Amino acid sequence: CKPKVNRHNLLTFLTVVGVVGGTVCGCIIRATATSKWTPRQIMYLEFPGDLFLRMLKALIVPLLMASVISAIGSLDLSLSKKIAIRSIAYYATTTISAVILGIFLVLTIRPGVSASKNFEETEDDTQARPVLTADTLLDLIRNLFPPNLVQATIYQSQTHLKIPPGVCDPTNFNNCTKPLQDMEFTEVYEGTTNVLGLVMFSIVFGITIGKMGEQGAPLLAFFDALSEAMMMITGWVIWLSPLGVFFLVTAQVLKIKSFAALVGQLGMYFFTVLLGLFIHGFVTLSIIYFVCTRTLPFKTIAGMSQVLATAFGTASSSATMPVTIRTMDKMGVDPRVTRFVIPIGATINMDGTALYEAVAAIFIAQIRQVQLGFGQAVAVCVTATAASIGAAGIPQAGLVTMVMVLDTVGLPAKNNIVIIIAVDWLLDRFRTTINVMCDALAAKIVDHMSAGELGRTVPGDKLNAEPH
Ligand code: ASP
Repeated sequence: CKPKVNRHNLLTFLTVVGVVGGTVCGCIIRATATSKWTPRQIMYLEFPGDLFLRMLKALIVPLLMASVISAIGSLDLSLSKKIAIRSIAYYATTTISAVILGIFLVLTIRPGVSASKNFEETEDDTQARPVLTADTLLDLIRNLFPPNLVQATIYQSQTHLKIPPGVCDPTNFNNCTKPLQDMEFTEVYEGTTNVLGLVMFSIVFGITIGKMGEQGAPLLAFFDALSEAMMMITGWVIWLSPLGVFFLVTAQVLKIKSFAALVGQLGMYFFTVLLGLFIHGFVTLSIIYFVCTRTLPFKTIAGMSQVLATAFGTASSSATMPVTIRTMDKMGVDPRVTRFVIPIGATINMDGTALYEAVAAIFIAQIRQVQLGFGQAVAVCVTATAASIGAAGIPQAGLVTMVMVLDTVGLPAKNNIVIIIAVDWLLDRFRTTINVMCDALAAKIVDHMSAGELGRTVPGDKLNAEPH
């Protein structure tokens, strides 16, 4: 009899080949092209990858809302509460340990101290805007309560300061003739989908449907079916991932201005973030996984290679979310846990981003020779955590929310964020992979811890699960 090819393993293998092949192909084109590829040529090359990304993105809002509503609606309130408490405790523990690890490494390795001696200023083409940390924090809370759900699928709200002409030097908002706190401000709607607000609404809606009993049953059936339909579409789209990531990665390699930064001035910074991500992903998370489940996570991590390759290829936790949910379902995690833990994790739990924000802010402070005290290190810890919660699950979102962390160490974003931009495209891919890995492990851990309450004797054994 013919050996059966495991479709999941084949797809995983092809996706990893897509990532590696894209990198090699991009390098070959760079090395052999007689002239630099123009942005238009790169856009043509990236086109298939862009289509793949668009298909995944189209699933995010309906899948996110339907999954959270159906998961919470089908659990009884006390069990929802327990699952929520376990997930939030895990998210808080892992994010804070990631930030502390990042701060420890950057203060020990001190990558900015050696770089500051021969640091060359690069031209700043970033569009920084003046912000107050208080406004950024209030925006985070404000976005939890979207006034209009349709608008929330497109925009987040952001507070903008109205700077009168001539009051500030546009390259340094710290030197304005009037304090930023005294400027007039306005709320504008811009940016990306307000995922945080949609998750919040879905939680409340799910709880309400669960409480309605019989009357809420048709609504629950509707959202159950909607989330299943989205998963079916994910099952089809996922087969495009090898090609999609191949073209995305090839185009990314062609977009890089220079590789020199990876080994030059930013080499030690790059190494520090990478080391932190590696230790967090494979040591800290393994210990937490072992403590919670009494098993080591390596087999589980290997089983989620498809998810990790997609995260690396797309640099977006949100776009990877449908793939993560599908894989966790396949790995035997109870769907009620997966649909609760993964969408919320993809929105608020970004350990890789938190670690990177802390390292980057302190690295920039070292370059600028700003001395940091213990109080400021604690402030970096708090703001890096908040900045990772507020970051959208899209490429390089962490770079945007870092304004808040830089503000705590007294550095304006303008002229400073530019320091790390050259290597951010690559670090973004690694941190997104860790963000997504942490969410997937959360689903396994919460599933294990909730097995008894979910009606299973053996964690992961779907046969014993109660019908729902
Ligand atoms: N790209 C990251 C993600 O989607 C966010 C970031 O750190 O920029 O998880």
